[in-house]
Amino acid sequence: MSDLNGKVALVTGSAKESGIGRAIALRLARDGADVVVADMCKDKGEKDAIWGGLLARAEEIQDAGKRALAAHVDISDEKSVDALIAEIKAGFGRLDIVCNNAGIATGINLSYMLSPAEWRKVMEVNLNGTFIMSRAAAQWMTKAKQGGCIINTSSWRGFAPAPFMAAYCASKAGVISLTEVMALELASHNIRVNAICPGKVDTDMERWGWELKAGAKGVPVEAIIEEEQKKIPLGRIATPDMVAGLVSFIASDEGAYITGQAISFTGGMTLVRL
Ligand code: NAD
Repeated sequence: MSDLNGKVALVTGSAKESGIGRAIALRLARDGADVVVADMCKDKGEKDAIWGGLLARAEEIQDAGKRALAAHVDISDEKSVDALIAEIKAGFGRLDIVCNNAGIATGINLSYMLSPAEWRKVMEVNLNGTFIMSRAAAQWMTKAKQGGCIINTSSWRGFAPAPFMAAYCASKAGVISLTEVMALELASHNIRVNAICPGKVDTDMERWGWELKAGAKGVPVEAIIEEEQKKIPLGRIATPDMVAGLVSFIASDEGAYITGQAISFTGGMTLVRL
């Protein structure tokens, strides 16, 4: 267990019960941090599932004995990110750990059949959003002079390309490059910037792909999951909790000498030529 007592963490894209963001937020809270959970809500009303999810996450964090703040953010929108930063300043007064977890994947298509609008949509969230959020956090952290830790969620697809996923792969490769540049720029401020590169993690995002394959092949989704597991040297798909453990380690004092890294978390898949 890491000791994150006294730290304030922000986790974007953390509303969904099944998502990696929720697991990260809960793990950081259990390891001692106060946590801001943020996601893109349509409105902060009863009927908005994302807002409802954020309130549930905040309650879980409070149940773990830590302070929580649920907040709306569209990471691709500068004004929305500025508003989130203002909310965190008012609520907690400090920010130590930023987990840029929010991301999207769109339909699979040949790159030359992909519409520029779809390409832009993925870039807007995965790459531009990560930049906008990191930029705002770094401006605050450099002024605050208390160091900091930014953890960007890339993907093994950021360095292991797959056909039909041009926008996703390019956006996640961009996240790695942004991570490296910001790590160099911020090291003298004791602000570390790293990227995590998960392989296959059991969430809605990954299940959507498995269901698509199952439909195309006319087989049950369980058959696809079994096939996917066989491609992984360790023989099992990761859980969001496993990813959360990595994030907590990077954020902790034990991770204090790690910066500018794109950390592969794939059960050995990167060693296999698919
Ligand atoms: P998910 O779809 O369950 O969660 C993503 C979250 O991001 C959602 O809650 C969504 O509302 C939020 N989001 C989307 N656009 C946003 C925006 N503009 N502003 C704020 N929030 C926004 O996905 P997940 O599987 O939990 O993935 C989390 C991250 O991990 C993503 O960046 C994804 O690309 C990455 N990843 C996932 C896998 C996997 O196998 N699931 C593998 C590698 C990388």
